[in-house]
Amino acid sequence: MAETMKIVAITGDHEASVIEAAKPEPGKGQIRMRVEGCALCTFEQRMFTGVVPVPLPFIGGHEVAGYIDAIGEGLKPENYPIGKRIAARTFYSCGHCYGCRHDEGNLCVNGSEQDKSWMAYPGIGGLEQYMLIKPDMLFFMNDDLPLEKACFAEPLACVLNSIEKGRIEIGDDVVVIGGGIMGQLHVMCSKLQGARVIMSEPDEARRQLAAELGADVCINPLECDAVEKVKELTGGNGAAVVFNTTAVSAVAQQAIGMVAASRQAHRGLPELAAQLRGRHHRRRLAVRPQLPPLLRRPLQGHHRPRQARLRRLRYR
Ligand SMILES: [Zn+2]
Ligand SMILES: [Zn+2]
Repeated sequence: MAETMKIVAITGDHEASVIEAAKPEPGKGQIRMRVEGCALCTFEQRMFTGVVPVPLPFIGGHEVAGYIDAIGEGLKPENYPIGKRIAARTFYSCGHCYGCRHDEGNLCVNGSEQDKSWMAYPGIGGLEQYMLIKPDMLFFMNDDLPLEKACFAEPLACVLNSIEKGRIEIGDDVVVIGGGIMGQLHVMCSKLQGARVIMSEPDEARRQLAAELGADVCINPLECDAVEKVKELTGGNGAAVVFNTTAVSAVAQQAIGMVAASRQAHRGLPELAAQLRGRHHRRRLAVRPQLPPLLRRPLQGHHRPRQARLRRLRYR
C-alpha cells in the first residue's frame, strides 16, 4: 500500500478533521517539503467560519516552514539538500502575466495554472504533513531558526511589502491601527526603520504586547478620539505613515484622518478590504525575494531582540 500522511482539512462550518491521504511523490522539478510549522491567519479563519465559502473538504495553510524531504528528477541534491530548513511561498506566480513581469508576482492572474494534482482535496496545502513545491517557491532558512518562527516568513513578507511602500524615514511618526499579528509585525518593522510608533488598539493585552515590541505610545481608540489624539501627539501634523491592519471601513476613515497632509500610506486599500474580505490577501501575498538587508536579519535569526520571542495569541 502506498505511504500515507495526515492532513487537516476544513470539513464543515466551524469544523475541521484529520484525514489520511496519499503521501505525494515529487515529480520532475518538484520538491517535497515536510511541513513542521504552519501558522493560521484570518484567511483560514474566514474559511473555517464560512465567511468565505470554499469547496469542502478544503486544506488551508499558507504560512509554512519545514524541511526538504525529497527532490524530483532534474534537481541537483547539492542545491536542495535533504533536511535543509525552508519556508515556502504557497501562492503561485506564472512568470509571464503582467503582474509577474512587473515584479508583482503576488498579483498573478493565472493561479489556476498551478499543478495541484498531488493534493487529495482543493486548497493551499500547508496543513498537510508533506507538500510539493517548485524551487522558486522556497526560501532557505538558517539552521538555528526554529521552524515555528520561520513560518512567519509569509506574513512578515507581506508587512515588509507595506513597509517598503510606506517609505518611512528616520524619526517619522507612524501609526499602526490594530494589534493583531500583522499590527505587531508592523510595529517591529517600523521601529527597525527608525520611526516613532503609535499603536491604536482597544484590547489591553495587545496594547501591552505592542509596547513590549517597541511601540512608543499606545492609545485606546474606545477611550479617546484616536484622530485627535494622533494630531495632539504629532504637534498637530498627523502621522507621516498610517498602517491600518484592520478590515473595518470606519477605521479606514479614521486612518485617513490621522495622516499628515504631505504624506500617506496604507497597508493595502483598507476601505476596500472590508468588501474584498479574503480576496485582499490574494492581492498582497508575495514573499518578496529581495528583502532590505536591515530587515532580512530578523528573518534569518541573526538578530534576536528579546521581544521577538514567540507568543501565543488566542483567536477571538
Ligand atoms: Zn496569512
Ligand atoms: Zn502571473
